[in-house]
Amino acid sequence: MDTFNDVETWKDLFENANDLIQSVDENGRFLYVNKKWRDILGYTNDEAGRLAFPNIIYPSHLQACFAAFAEMQKGKSFDNFSTQFVAKDGRVIDVEGNISVRMKDGKFISTWGIFRDVTARNQREQELDHIAKMLVRRDFELLQTNDILRIRDEQISKEHELNRAKSEFVSLASHQLKTPLTIIKWYIDMLNAGYADDVLEKQKEYLGKIYTNTERMVELVDAFLNVSRLELGVFAIKKEPINLKDKIEAILKNLDPKIKEKNLKVSKTYAKDDIVISADLKIIQIIFENLISNAIKYTPAGGKIHITMQKKSDEILIGITDTGIGIPVGQQSKIFTKFFRADNVSTQKIDGTGLGLYLVKTLIEKTGGKIWFESTENKGSAFYVTFCPD
Ligand code: ADP
Repeated sequence: MDTFNDVETWKDLFENANDLIQSVDENGRFLYVNKKWRDILGYTNDEAGRLAFPNIIYPSHLQACFAAFAEMQKGKSFDNFSTQFVAKDGRVIDVEGNISVRMKDGKFISTWGIFRDVTARNQREQELDHIAKMLVRRDFELLQTNDILRIRDEQISKEHELNRAKSEFVSLASHQLKTPLTIIKWYIDMLNAGYADDVLEKQKEYLGKIYTNTERMVELVDAFLNVSRLELGVFAIKKEPINLKDKIEAILKNLDPKIKEKNLKVSKTYAKDDIVISADLKIIQIIFENLISNAIKYTPAGGKIHITMQKKSDEILIGITDTGIGIPVGQQSKIFTKFFRADNVSTQKIDGTGLGLYLVKTLIEKTGGKIWFESTENKGSAFYVTFCPD
């Protein structure tokens, strides 16, 4: 223990300590600074000798340091004193340490401060604090996103329910409407056939109008029924072999009165051999009835309709071309949308529901086929449909 009575040993201990050690006189001037202090703050011993503590304190801490120094001069020591030093090159160093006071006969002599450089630790703490805040923020954002998603999910399922209820209502209402309409048509037939006495010419004309409008209503009800069945997913599909040429011919025969009424010229280019596909008869009927009756409806009197049917290696291609009013370019992208009708058909007062092509496209896609068209306003349209041969 003798060595510790030796002043040189104490000096050596202070000088080479791993902490910043400084001693300040009653005027705040440095009496002593150790090697670590000089290394970190960048001053030589001589330079330090010309400095007072306010020269190395970061400005925002000056006031607190002056107040503490005044207390020290009264003999008060400080534990865990934190402040910031400024090095010669301007670096800011966070320090933390103890300051003890040397007094003699009640008079202040000097202070001894032992500080630790805690800049790196504080930086790490700040970083951790930043990360923690970020995590809290992210957590909050995730909670908000979850809330938004939950609300959206609820809205979607409500919309789904509502749509389903709507489709069910339309399906039920359409179904109920079909029977009275059919009965109206029977009675018109009976009146026309003279079951209730002779019918005058004028009465015949009015009965004809009632009949046409009843038929139009039946078509509308059929379209509603089919769309709602499709949307409810209850469109029953029963595949059977269908001879496409025969089917199209049958549809044309049905529509013959309308073709004749408008004096339209219908030509056909069919494949030599019969083309038979395996499909649902109802679907094929809806597709071609819609496409051919559109060609008839939207072609002015005296116009032409051409039907082509070809079998290619991997598909069957059917085209229905007309010399009708065409579809305005700006509206072509909407043509398969539910209830969409182009401006030129509304201005010309041509009747329709805007449901046919929506139904046709949905049904064709259900069978794995495709539909597209080319059209020039006032020149005509060509609708193409493909099916896969089975
Ligand atoms: P609509 O009952 O109105 O005919 P569709 O769904 O069958 O309903 O057709 C939608 C719209 O597409 C029609 O209103 C019409 O504007 C246009 N369109 C369909 N086919 C033709 C065609 N061959 N020529 C001109 N426009 C057509």
